[in-house]
Amino acid sequence: MDEVECVVGGAGVVGLAVAWALANAGREVLLIEAEDAIGTQTSSRNSEVIHAGIYYAPGSRMAQFCVAGKLALYEYCAERGVPHARCGKLIVAAEEAERGRLGAIAARAAANGVHDLRELTAAEAIALEPNLACAGALLSPSTGIIDSHAFMLALHGDVESAGGMVVFSSPLLAAKPDGDGIVLSIGGAEPMQLKTRLLINSAGLFAPAVARTIEGLDPAAIPTEYYAKGSYFTLSGRSPFSRLIYPVPVPGGLGTHLTIDMGGQARFGPDVEWIDAIHYDVDASRIPLFVEAVKRYWPDVSADRLQPGYSGIRPKIVPKGAPGQDFVIQDASAHGVAGLINLFGIESPGLTASLALAEHVAALAAR
Ligand SMILES: Cc1cc2nc3c(=O)[nH]c(=O)nc-3n(C[C@H](O)[C@H](O)[C@H](O)COP(=O)(O)OP(=O)(O)OC[C@H]3O[C@@H](n4cnc5c(N)ncnc54)[C@H](O)[C@@H]3O)c2cc1C
Repeated sequence: MDEVECVVGGAGVVGLAVAWALANAGREVLLIEAEDAIGTQTSSRNSEVIHAGIYYAPGSRMAQFCVAGKLALYEYCAERGVPHARCGKLIVAAEEAERGRLGAIAARAAANGVHDLRELTAAEAIALEPNLACAGALLSPSTGIIDSHAFMLALHGDVESAGGMVVFSSPLLAAKPDGDGIVLSIGGAEPMQLKTRLLINSAGLFAPAVARTIEGLDPAAIPTEYYAKGSYFTLSGRSPFSRLIYPVPVPGGLGTHLTIDMGGQARFGPDVEWIDAIHYDVDASRIPLFVEAVKRYWPDVSADRLQPGYSGIRPKIVPKGAPGQDFVIQDASAHGVAGLINLFGIESPGLTASLALAEHVAALAAR
């Protein structure tokens, strides 16, 4: 049977970053992907925002890896010529009653090590963004946007330059501990078995399902998967804003915000819709709800400028209504299988955090 030192399952942005970090550390790496290309799932169905690290619970993995990942990502983009822009973001208090919440948001950001937020009066915010209606705002200068596909292509190139291999149409079907390693059953046109010393389960929405196929893994360590779909509606014509515009967060979400991609296309969303099975339909009947929410900070919005865009699904591991989740990174101490690292619940800010997450996984793997 063929043997490879490390196998990463899933070539989304996180699996690619992990494979690169391992290959960079001198490990032999094979990255196996079920689909026929990199990043066809959540990694290409998101807002492409480089998050500053503002909202996450201080001390959480999301907070730590977002802030560290943001710095690493800006550096990486600059070095590797990945299109990105440090465009900044405004968190907008639509009415006077919401202004008081801006201070609490800035305090949480500071606890996470984000010290560059600046509170603006309505006049200062409108001077920056003349189409905005607000009672005040917080400016986050380190928030940015990135061409996520170009980022993943660069990582793919880096994995291969560092000696790693990426193979497509090769789903991980099952795994079984065997002596000093794990035997993997890999499907596809030419199914095969392969032995590895280290398996990283980075299958995104499917990571819990993959974990269930691993013999010997404590079932109590495998979270139940839940799906929270987020739909986007794109705006025809020029973007009325040059920065990202977010309302003050609402319970359970960041509110209906405006982001802009590297091509200048503005889009609203994602909203939050809990679903039972994976599907990416965007329901045009939600447009009036979006218009209603956006009107609070952009009174000129009209339904005829919005079209259904695309959607992505948050890989939730807690049900609707439960307190927020954190990234889960499990090694043998959590699940009992030597040589296995599971990544669960890598939702936003997973794109921003990917390089820092990967460094952490490579350090765990080196133990
Ligand atoms: C609506 C939405 C908006 C978001 N916006 C942002 C944002 O603006 N900024 C930010 O930082 N983060 C954002 N995120 C989060 C970010 O997109 C994710 O955290 C990140 O893409 C997760 O990457 P991943 O590699 O873990 O998962 P995925 O991209 O889902 O990759 C998993 C891969 O595993 C493969 N796979 C599945 N099963 C198998 C198997 N059995 N064998 C082999 N391969 C398998 C899949 O085909 C897939 O390619 C957003 C997420 C959502 C849902």
